[in-house]
Amino acid sequence: MAESTAVKLDPRVQQFLEGGPKRLFIGGEFVEAESGKTFPTINPATSEVLAHVCEADQTDVELAVQAAERAFAVWSKVSPSDRGKLLWKLADLMEANLEALAQLDTLDNGKPIRETRHADVPLSIEHIRYYAGWTTKIHGEVINNSVSPNMLTYTRREPLGVVGQIIPWNFPLLMLSWKIAAALAAGNTVVLKSAEQTPLTALYMAHLIQEAGFPGGVVNILSGDGPNTGAAIVKHPRIRKIAFTGSTEVGKLIMRESASNLKCISLELGGKSPNIIFPDADFTKAVPGALLGIFFNQGQVCCAGSRLFVHKKVYDNVLADMSSYASKLKQGPGLDHSTEIGPLVSDEQYNRVSYYLNKGREEGANALIGGKPLDGPGYFVPPTIFTDVSDEMSIAREEIFGPVVTALPFSDEDQIADVIRRANDTEYGLAAGVWTTDVKKAHRVAHALEAGTVWVNCYNSFDASVPFGGYKQSGFGRENGSYALELYTQVKAVWMNLD
Ligand code: ADP
Repeated sequence: MAESTAVKLDPRVQQFLEGGPKRLFIGGEFVEAESGKTFPTINPATSEVLAHVCEADQTDVELAVQAAERAFAVWSKVSPSDRGKLLWKLADLMEANLEALAQLDTLDNGKPIRETRHADVPLSIEHIRYYAGWTTKIHGEVINNSVSPNMLTYTRREPLGVVGQIIPWNFPLLMLSWKIAAALAAGNTVVLKSAEQTPLTALYMAHLIQEAGFPGGVVNILSGDGPNTGAAIVKHPRIRKIAFTGSTEVGKLIMRESASNLKCISLELGGKSPNIIFPDADFTKAVPGALLGIFFNQGQVCCAGSRLFVHKKVYDNVLADMSSYASKLKQGPGLDHSTEIGPLVSDEQYNRVSYYLNKGREEGANALIGGKPLDGPGYFVPPTIFTDVSDEMSIAREEIFGPVVTALPFSDEDQIADVIRRANDTEYGLAAGVWTTDVKKAHRVAHALEAGTVWVNCYNSFDASVPFGGYKQSGFGRENGSYALELYTQVKAVWMNLD
């Protein structure tokens, strides 16, 4: 564990955490759940309760939908420019509250403060600003039809109405930003549920949304679990769309349930992403890139490069370098300046990853480093590199969602067919990485990989302008860029007879 150089708690965070249970944000007001129920949210670095949070159920979901419906009548008439100004103002307020947001995300999720300060929060701010710019650039087109020169046909891009958004715990603030920005830019109103493990930054954001001056009900933020609160959103007959990020298992359930009123859906689900290191790679980049690919956010990343294919010519060296770096990573509480790898988010996640560490050993894999969860307090699992892994082992097939990588040697010479076949031999298709200095090979491999994102000589790069989403059972629909606007608008064709 790292020597403690703890961050001083921001007074705004202290103030936010004090007082009674954190309330839901419905219709622009902070309200208790109708049932009066609350649940604790835990600091994963200490296993202690951080705060109690009101738990929304079906009644609160109904109230949030009613508020969002009323707000839609207002919001859809706010001019694009004014919508943009409000989003921009929200981003400014986030910037003014950067430290508080970073600390809260770190406290609730466990991730290192150096990541929340330099990645999660700045990326979230940029995301909101990016879509502030889009509000004024959403338009239809005039279509040259063949019916008659006097028949004017044009399209409009209209919002869907009330959209339901369900986010996971691995990037609490960033996922909220990905979800609300595009939806609001396009003129929808939102009922968003945070993950039950990490409800705090969403509720802090509710204060900023209120302060920015969004009309009440444009964004409603609910806390609660999946089967109760989440399911009530998914089943709600007047919610027009569900945007979900989470597990493939729950994604399938949401798809089934959304059939009730034929909701539009977009799903960003699990992954078991291949990261391929060719012998001609620049190893000064490939080794840190492979480490970042799997250990960033404690491996709790849907696009984590958890299957590391390394050419056998360079396998021993790459693995030795990776082990040497990874074993020096400072693991400790996220709220410590020096921490490079924090705890896992929850007891449940600690048990899940521990299960796979055991399973890996039982299946005959060898933990080059790590391999055993640490004792509490807190939910710490050390970086783990498994060697002697076969493609069939469950640690090489199932999503672990922890700091655990399976290293898989490959031996193609000029041909790349075999490693591509192995890389694509998964039900998932979220992302992939390629490390090579041969530009032709880089493109050929990038085109052949069945994944929604391919990183060449980089990994885990994100930008608000670049689409992100899955192939196969990693989901469908693309967030970010202009693509996300397609998820949040519907096209109306207008025929106008000028005769
Ligand atoms: P994880 O296993 O990583 O926690 P989940 O897919 O279970 O991922 O959770 C992601 C989000 O989906 C969370 O906000 C969770 O509360 C929500 N969720 C879980 N189950 C359901 C469900 N049956 N209906 C709607 N939302 C759900």
